Parts: sequence; structure tokens; C-alpha cells
Amino acid sequence: MSTALVLLRRDLRLDDHPALAAACAGHDRVLPVYIHAPGEDALWQPGAASRWWLHHSLKALGNRLGEAGGELFIARGEALDVLRDLSGRCGATAVFWSRRYEPAAIAHDRRLEHALRAEGLAAESFPGNLWCEPWQLTTTDGKPYRVFTPYWRKLRAEVPLPPPQGTVRARKWTRLPGGLEIDALGLLPKIDWDRGIAATWRPGEAGAAEMLEIFVDSALAGYQQMRDWPGRHGTSRLSPHLHFGEITPRQVWHGLRASIARDATRPHADLEPFLRQLAWREFAHHLLYHFPDTPTENFNPRFDQFHWSDEDPEAIRRWQHGRTGVPLIDAGMRELWHTGWMHNRVRMVVASFLSKNLRQHWLHGARWFWDTLVDADLANNTMGWQWVAGSGADAAPYFRVFNPYTQAKRFDPDATYIGRWIPELADLPVRLLLEPWRDPAALAARGYPAPMIDVSASRDAALTAWKTLD
Ligand SMILES: Cc1cc2nc3c(=O)[nH]c(=O)nc-3n(C[C@H](O)[C@H](O)[C@H](O)COP(=O)(O)OP(=O)(O)OC[C@H]3O[C@@H](n4cnc5c(N)ncnc54)[C@H](O)[C@@H]3O)c2cc1C
Repeated sequence: MSTALVLLRRDLRLDDHPALAAACAGHDRVLPVYIHAPGEDALWQPGAASRWWLHHSLKALGNRLGEAGGELFIARGEALDVLRDLSGRCGATAVFWSRRYEPAAIAHDRRLEHALRAEGLAAESFPGNLWCEPWQLTTTDGKPYRVFTPYWRKLRAEVPLPPPQGTVRARKWTRLPGGLEIDALGLLPKIDWDRGIAATWRPGEAGAAEMLEIFVDSALAGYQQMRDWPGRHGTSRLSPHLHFGEITPRQVWHGLRASIARDATRPHADLEPFLRQLAWREFAHHLLYHFPDTPTENFNPRFDQFHWSDEDPEAIRRWQHGRTGVPLIDAGMRELWHTGWMHNRVRMVVASFLSKNLRQHWLHGARWFWDTLVDADLANNTMGWQWVAGSGADAAPYFRVFNPYTQAKRFDPDATYIGRWIPELADLPVRLLLEPWRDPAALAARGYPAPMIDVSASRDAALTAWKTLD
């Protein structure tokens, strides 16, 4: 009777899970284990919103395993100590896991693999959370890609997304006494700020499948056009589910294709633009793997010479709390605080406002997002912030400063989004929400602050500062 342990981290699912499938194929008994060890993430331990998600995702996985006759064994501490103890207790001879790609996690998992093998256990890592391993594609001269479009072309041409594997067989599960209750991990906030998040999301595999279904039914048709409109449900909102590995890129892709095959009236035209967005996630992981310093260092070293404004805690606080006096920015920051998520178009605009208009270092923004996003993801967040700030790979040119008023007029012309997240202004005419300078007193009468900065003067100042890098 052989037993394997499967270490689960950011792969909180039972379906389409190569590590679990391999454990079940090669062993008579399998014990799924979650070890709480936030220190493994070094500087980037999960923020408050991520911890909320993790709590509920672990609960969902534990319930699913329970229904299948197994359990999720939960422990806390050094992975090696816990795995050594567990393998001794249940006679496990192998430990399997899905790969992670953050620099600290890679280093940790390499050490773990060596140590387990030195103790005579089979230790094996598996892909599964990405479409393509970050080292799989290189340019013709063998270097990592730095520009998205050629990366995307090669990915699309050379790396197929095979159909997902099904659910692993239930009769394999084993149990062991002595695991912790999920509540004992203390992942939930002590102060009750999570109501909006709880009302918005359903962590876990079933929640991910439901989100995919909602996307297919209500937003896939028209995705290419509507994905930039923050007031509409125009995107999939799968990002936290993908981050926690509750659903895989191939499940998403084949799920979409199957829905179109079932219903010939559904248009195909939006599939490819959606796949391209999934490829940005791949590109972000490719970059993080090959340039592991970029979560804290400029990708483009020319930016090391750039003079950011002195750190301005009051300005940063107003940005964080959605009190800048610029409606689209405040709507975005309030959406983030309330739901743990922000629309991609608005992420770009608020990031540009902080790093270009306020000229605060992009890391201030990256850290705030890290704490407040339910989809906080080191690869995507680093790429997003560096792209907007202009310091990144394939970045927005420095002279591209998003004008939040023009962006609102273009992508939220009926001010649905602004009105939703700034309710104190919702009854004002749309024209005033888009062009508040027409009647500042009307906004002030509702307690809404005056703009903290002149958007066009600060844009000019930013451009002058950036030109010093030429
Ligand atoms: C400053 C900034 C910070 C960001 N931080 C994060 C982050 O921490 N975590 C995160 O998952 N995304 C981040 N993004 C990328 C993007 O905003 C989100 O992935 C997207 O808004 C998620 O919504 P969705 O699932 O509805 O996307 P959809 O449009 O439905 O796209 C499907 C999936 O593709 C991936 N994707 C889409 N756009 C991007 C992109 N630009 N970059 C990388 N992957 C993408 C996501 O996994 C997403 O779930 C950031 C973007 C910016 C500009």
C-alpha cells in the first residue's frame, strides 16, 4: 500500500490537477495537505484581501474533499518539518506539488525538493496553473522575450492548450488525525471590513465555474468592445480564481469553446481577444521568472535615475481612500476597497494618476494593490505597475499619461461606474460627473473634495521630469 502527500498552495482545486492526478495514478492512497507558511513568500506575504480569499477557498476545497470521502490536512510551520512528520505518520513515500513562479517560492521549493530527496522521499513538481512554463519560449537567439506581441504570436502558434484532465478518483483519499481547523489560521480580518468582498465573490472551484458560466452567458459576446467599459460586466472576473488555481487556463479556454460549440448563435470573434488577455498573464510570469528583481526594481534601469517626487503620505492616503476629487480615480479606488477588485481600464488610469500626475513611486501603488486586491498576483501586479509607470518591459511610453477625465468620457460616458462608486454624486447630471469643473460648488455641497491636483499641469510637469531621462 503506497501513500503520497500532495502539497496544495495556489492550486486549490481537484479538477484538472496534474500533481494530484499523478499522485492518484501512482499511489494507493493520497493525502492532500495545506501548510500555512506565509514566510515562504518573503517580502510579498499575502495581503489582507488575499488572506480573506485563501480562507474561503480552503474551506471550499476542504468541503469538496469531505464530500468525496477525504479531507484537506491543514498544518502550520516549515513545510519540510511538517512533511517529514506527516510522511513518518502515514508512511508516505512521495510528495507532489504544483509549481509556483515567484522568486522566493521557487527558491523555497528547490530547497524543499533537495531536502526531501535527501531523506529518501520522491519529491516531484508539476505544471498546471499556467498555459506555458515561463522558460519554455525564447526568442530566436535564446533570450527571454521583453515585448508582448512576438511572445504572444509564438505562444499561440507553438503551445496548444490541451483539453483539461477531469476530476481525480475519489477512492484514493486518506485521512490523518491532528490537522488544524481553517479558522485557526487567523486569515479573516478582525475588523469587519470584508462585507463588500463577501457579497461580491464566491471563492473555490464551484465559484470559478459559476463565474465562467456568467461570463459565457453575459459578457463573452462583445468582450472585445466592452472589456474597456468599467460600468458594464464586460470581462470574466476570473482573475482571483486563476490566481488561486481554482480554475486553469485550459479549463477556461475549453469551457468557452464548448459553450460556442453547444450554441452556434454565439459569436467566435471574441474568443481570440480573450485568449490574448490570458496570454498577458503568461507573459507576466515569463517576465517575473527571467527578471526576478522586478517586483521592487525598475525593469528598465534608466528609470533608476528618475526623480520621483518626495514621498507624500497625505497624497498617497487620499489616493488610497478615493478622496482625490477626480471622480474616475475615486470610483476605482472605492471599487477596490469595497470589492477587492478593480476593472483593468481603471487600474491603468489610477496607476497613471499616482505614478505620473502625483509622481509617487510606483511601488507605493503596487503595495497598496497587494494588500487590497483579491487577485493580488506578483507577476501581474509587477508587470501592470511597471507598464503604466513606464519603467517596465514593453511599457507604455513615458509620455502616455492617462487623462482621467477623457478616459471617463470615452469608457464611462453615462457615468454608470462613477455614480455606482461615488453614491454621494449619483444624482448629479452625468455632464457634471464627467466634467466636474463646470459646477464645483454642486460637488462640494455633497461633501466631495475639490481635485487635489490640476490634471493637465501635473501632466506637463511629469513630461518635463521624464524628458530628463532621454
Ligand atoms: C496597475 C495594474 C495592476 C494589476 N495587478 C494585477 C494583479 O495583481 N493580479 C491580476 O490578476 N491582474 C492584475 N492586473 C491585470 C488586470 O487588470 C487584471 O488581470 C484584470 O482586470 C482581471 O479582470 P478579469 O479577470 O475580468 O479580466 P479578463 O479581461 O476577463 O481577462 C481574463 C484573464 O486574463 C488575465 N489578464 C487580463 N488582463 C491582464 C493584464 N493586463 N495583465 C495580466 N493578466 C491579465 C487575468 O488572469 C484575467 O483574469 C493589473 C493591471 C494593472 C494595470
